[in-house]
Amino acid sequence: MNKKNIKAYGKENLDNPLHEINIVRRTLLPNDIEMNILYCGICHSDLHQIKNDFGMTSYPIVPGHEIIGKVIRIGTDVNNFKIGDIAAVGCIVDSCGKCEYCEHDLEQFCDEGVTFSFNSPDKHLGGMTFGGFSEKYVCDEKYVLHVPKNIDDLAAAAPLLCAGITVYSPLKHWKVGPDKKIGIIGIGGLGHIAIKIAKAMGSYITVFTTSLSKMEDAKRLGADEAVLSTDLEQLNKYLRSLDFILDTVSAKHDVNSYLNLLKHDGSLVLVGLPPEPLEIGAFNVVIGRRSFSGSNIGGIAETQEMLDFCAKHNITAEIELINIQEVNEAFEKLENGNVKYRFVVDMSSLEQSQKEI
Ligand SMILES: [Zn+2]
Ligand SMILES: [Zn+2]
Repeated sequence: MNKKNIKAYGKENLDNPLHEINIVRRTLLPNDIEMNILYCGICHSDLHQIKNDFGMTSYPIVPGHEIIGKVIRIGTDVNNFKIGDIAAVGCIVDSCGKCEYCEHDLEQFCDEGVTFSFNSPDKHLGGMTFGGFSEKYVCDEKYVLHVPKNIDDLAAAAPLLCAGITVYSPLKHWKVGPDKKIGIIGIGGLGHIAIKIAKAMGSYITVFTTSLSKMEDAKRLGADEAVLSTDLEQLNKYLRSLDFILDTVSAKHDVNSYLNLLKHDGSLVLVGLPPEPLEIGAFNVVIGRRSFSGSNIGGIAETQEMLDFCAKHNITAEIELINIQEVNEAFEKLENGNVKYRFVVDMSSLEQSQKEI
């Protein structure tokens, strides 16, 4: 297969900082589109993967899976995109296409395993896929999303591609709506978008945060109430009051005190990825027939539906736009929880990186 060398930001081993490297992309297959990457968000799972927190990282690695770009070339059989379209690539860039999950628009659960946009076995080139911290992306059009035309701030839309679908999918699946009282744990990259989406769905939202300074922000973002979760007395005022809780925390934490806030038949759904196992007390689920569940991203059709929903309700992320040269510092800040609320990289800065080094 023909290949093309392009610039990217990645690292060859655990200890290196991210820096400019060269990678290859495949030349276009008939169903492929090629996009110039404009913006790429920084997600907590990029941080986990570059640090090999899950023991699944293959170096060299180029992270980035919240990708927005402009289509610059299309394959001979591409039907749904044209040159100049603003398009997006999220977490999934390939799947088997024929298992029961793929047939029901649930590619995220594909029997043969999804090909993720980075750090995933590359069916075409061998090795691993490289993510959005790069000049260009090549992807089968089936896995490319249309960015609705009324989204003006493309940089702020980038985080919808992972954070947005990660929270939209469970909110929809568990039928969050006007008649529901819901809780959201954590106001970070995931939580702040969850507040906006749940608000647009019409729910009554209580946010739980460990940060006093984020309580006011929660209300500005659309929450009806904000609770300091370190204050057990405050937390206990909400016992048996919520239909649904979305847990967005990616660090070890105690879910038991939150399970007790659910009404009977309520569900607590984890979308954060704490690297260590969480303990659950039996009585916190058997009393009230409560459920503890998880949810992971969403399929391609649902991701498009989420983008259209967000465009209709004017929802994008709150972001800090940075240049690629600031990315190591950004990862450090993300690790320390020092970001409001998502870093997005202006990928045009990659062009300058050679000169600055
Ligand atoms: Zn499949
Ligand atoms: Zn992500």
